[in-house]
Amino acid sequence: MNFLWLRAATSVALILVVAGILRAVFGPPWGLLIVSLGLVAMVSHHVVNLARLERWMRQPLGTPVPHGSGVWEYIFSGLNRRARMALDQRQQLADSLERFRTAAQAMPDGVIILNDQNLIEWVNTRAEEYFGLDDQRDRGVPVTNLLRRSDFAAYLARGRYDEPLSLQPEREDGRTLSIQIIPFGAEQKLVLARDITHLERLETMRRDFVANVSHELRTPLTVVSGFIETVADGLDEMDADETRRHLELALEQARRMQRLIDDLLTLSALETRGPPPEDERVSVRRLLAEVSDEAKALSAGRHRIEVEEQGADCALLGAAPELHSAFSNLVSNAVRYTPAGGSIRIRWHRDGQGASFTVEDTGVGIEARHIPRLTERFYRVDRGRSRESGGTGLGLAIVKHVLTRHHAHLEIASEPGRGSRFCARFPADRVVAEPILERS
Ligand code: ADP
Repeated sequence: MNFLWLRAATSVALILVVAGILRAVFGPPWGLLIVSLGLVAMVSHHVVNLARLERWMRQPLGTPVPHGSGVWEYIFSGLNRRARMALDQRQQLADSLERFRTAAQAMPDGVIILNDQNLIEWVNTRAEEYFGLDDQRDRGVPVTNLLRRSDFAAYLARGRYDEPLSLQPEREDGRTLSIQIIPFGAEQKLVLARDITHLERLETMRRDFVANVSHELRTPLTVVSGFIETVADGLDEMDADETRRHLELALEQARRMQRLIDDLLTLSALETRGPPPEDERVSVRRLLAEVSDEAKALSAGRHRIEVEEQGADCALLGAAPELHSAFSNLVSNAVRYTPAGGSIRIRWHRDGQGASFTVEDTGVGIEARHIPRLTERFYRVDRGRSRESGGTGLGLAIVKHVLTRHHAHLEIASEPGRGSRFCARFPADRVVAEPILERS
C-alpha cells in the first residue's frame, strides 16, 4: 500500500476510533456527529488544496508550487520536484537550440529550416539577406510563397537532393546561389544557400579565355594554311618572287601566333610563380636604357622619343625579367598607337612616396569608357589596329600582373586624338638607393 492510501486509511481509522469512543461514552448521536464532522473536515481540506492546485496550474510555467499540509504536502513537494526537473530540461533544450542557432548564424551560408509541410521554422541572417526573408515575420509561411521560383519549387518537390540547384534570386542583381536541401528529423529540411557568384564568374572567365585563345590562334592559322596551300597548288606556275611573298606573309602570321603563345606563357608563369624576390635589386638606369633602345628600334625613326630621368640612380626590388616585360609593353604600346611624327616621352621620377615610370604619347588616345577594361585579357579598343601593329591583346594584362606582384599599380589617363599617359607607381619600400645585382 502506498503512502497516500496509508495516510487516508489512517485518517478514516482515527475518525472511526474517536467516533466509536464517543458513541460508547455519550451514546450513538455523538458518534455519528463526530464521523460527519471528521468527513466534512477531510473533504474541506482536500477541496481547499485542490483549489490551490487548480490556481497554480493556471499560473505561468516556473511559478512555485503552493505549500500544502497533510497528504497535500507530499503531493505538492512531488509536483515541485517534477516542475523543477521539467524546467531544467526545458532550459537544457533552450540552451542546445541557442547553441545550434548561434552556430547556424555563424555559418557563411544561408540556412532555412522547414517543417514537414515545408513551412519556414527558422531563417539565419545570411538567408534573410539572400532571399529578402525575415525570421520573425516569415515563420510558419510556406517557403514557396516567399521563394517564388518554379525551379526551386520543382527541386523541393522532387524529394531527391543529390545535386545542388543553381539559382539567381531575382532581387539580387548578378548573385548566383547554390541551393542544397538536406532532409533531417521527422521530414524536416535544412535549406543551405551558398553564394557561388565568384566561382561562376571564374568559370565564365575561363570559358571566355579558352574561346578567345582559340579564336586568336585560328585566324592566323587559317591564313598560314591558306598561303601554304596556294604555294603548294601553284608551285609549278608561281615565280620565285611570288612564292617568297606568300611565304613571307605566312611567316608573319606564324610570328603572330608565336607572340601570342609567348604572352600566354608569360601570363601563366606570372600566375603560377611565387612572389618576386624582395632582395634582388634591378638597376633602374639599365631598365630605362633597355626600354628606350627598344622603343627607338620599334619606332625606326618615325617618332620623337625623349627619356627624362629624375633620381634614376636607384634600384627596384623585384624580378628583372618581369619589370622589363612590363615597361617594355608600355613603351611598345606608345610606339604602336602613335602615328608617325608623334612624340613619346619615357619618364622616371623618384620622390618621398616612392617612384613612378611613365610613358606619355601623342597618339590615338582612348575613350574614357574603355579605360577601366584595358587590362582585361584580349580587351582592345580597336581590334584591327591592334592586330596590324602586332598586338596580342595581352600586353596590359601582363603589365597589371607584374605591377601587382611588385605592390605597384597602373594609372591611365588618355584623351582620344590627343594621346595617352600610362604610369606605373611603385611604393617607397620597393625602391632602394644602389643597384647591386644587375640584370644579365
Ligand atoms: P594590344 O596587344 O592590343 O596592344 P594591350 O593589352 O597592350 O593589347 O592593350 C590593350 C588595348 O589598349 C589596345 O588594344 C589598345 O586599344 C589600347 N592601348 C594600349 N596602349 C595604348 C596607347 N598607348 N594608346 C592608345 N591605345 C592604347
